[in-house]
Amino acid sequence: MIDLRSDTVTTPTPAMRKAMKDAKVGDDVYGDDPTVNELESLAAEKLGFESALFAPSGTQTNLIALLTHCQRGDEYIVGQQAHTYKYEGGGAAVLGSIQPQPIDARADGTLALESIEAAIKPDDSHFARTRLLAIENTFSGRALPMDYLPAARELADSKGLLLHLDGARVFNAAVFHGIDVRKISAQFDSISVCLSKGLCAPVGSVLCGSADFIHEARRWRKMLGGGMRQAGYIAAAGIVALNENVDRLQFDHDHARALFEGLRDIDELHMTDDSVQTNMVFLHCGKRVATELAAYLKSKKITISAGDSIRLVLHKDVDIDDVIKVTGECKKFFSK
Ligand SMILES: *Cc1c(COP(=O)(O)O)cnc(C)c1O
Repeated sequence: MIDLRSDTVTTPTPAMRKAMKDAKVGDDVYGDDPTVNELESLAAEKLGFESALFAPSGTQTNLIALLTHCQRGDEYIVGQQAHTYKYEGGGAAVLGSIQPQPIDARADGTLALESIEAAIKPDDSHFARTRLLAIENTFSGRALPMDYLPAARELADSKGLLLHLDGARVFNAAVFHGIDVRKISAQFDSISVCLSKGLCAPVGSVLCGSADFIHEARRWRKMLGGGMRQAGYIAAAGIVALNENVDRLQFDHDHARALFEGLRDIDELHMTDDSVQTNMVFLHCGKRVATELAAYLKSKKITISAGDSIRLVLHKDVDIDDVIKVTGECKKFFSK
């Protein structure tokens, strides 16, 4: 099967399997797991923060960040289509009594500074207290423009807001821009990074921030049930992810570009803009055709998820021959 549904489907590399087998472990809730401690130090260093926390998922690291930054009755400004608003079960509201204030993103994935400013509530008892701005990078496969980040930081500072990055795929953004990821993360008070996507770890995310922030975040992680015992077995794969699998993201980006180039001549897919930046390609052919295409591809051992649009995600377990096969099968489908 060629699986293009997500980069979450990646299987661990041989180096990860070996690291997991050989991992030294202890009880991480007591702080005794040397491998988890090593991963947390490594993540903090690579992203340029004082401290980091390992958790089972990106949903949990984002939620921990919101719970740590915001109090009951506070509000966070977030993209209408952002993961931290739309795809995390409303966790901040359900579990934290934190109100989201969603606003629409622009085509480049940024939230307009004017829209953010307009959404900030005055200090008035009618309103929730606007406390935090949450940004996502990459957003729908787009790496946010580098000049946007200091501008967002400046606005946040001038309005007394904290700034969180949902950096599930922040390393894809760094690779796209050809920069050290710290150039991105430096603008934020906290950042959540998934190890289990293009970086290929089987499980886990890290949350980075100041030492005080992570101290408090650790309490929330325990409360949410994210305190894992001999978690070094999975943290070991996370260490390999950060040390060995960042540069390889360029292959995924190259494959996404090749897939885009292969499919762009198919009129029915409406791939007019060449917005492919990282590891995702979007097709717009309507839900009915998308469903038929997905069924056809399934019969050719290619898995995609079809909705109103189709998102194809490139990752370690898809090589250039697979890209050529997918392109060929799509052409066959549309020439019928
Ligand atoms: C995948 C993802 C998450 C959450 O990660 P899980 O580990 O699946 O909970 C958060 N934000 C974005 C943008 C993501 O793509």
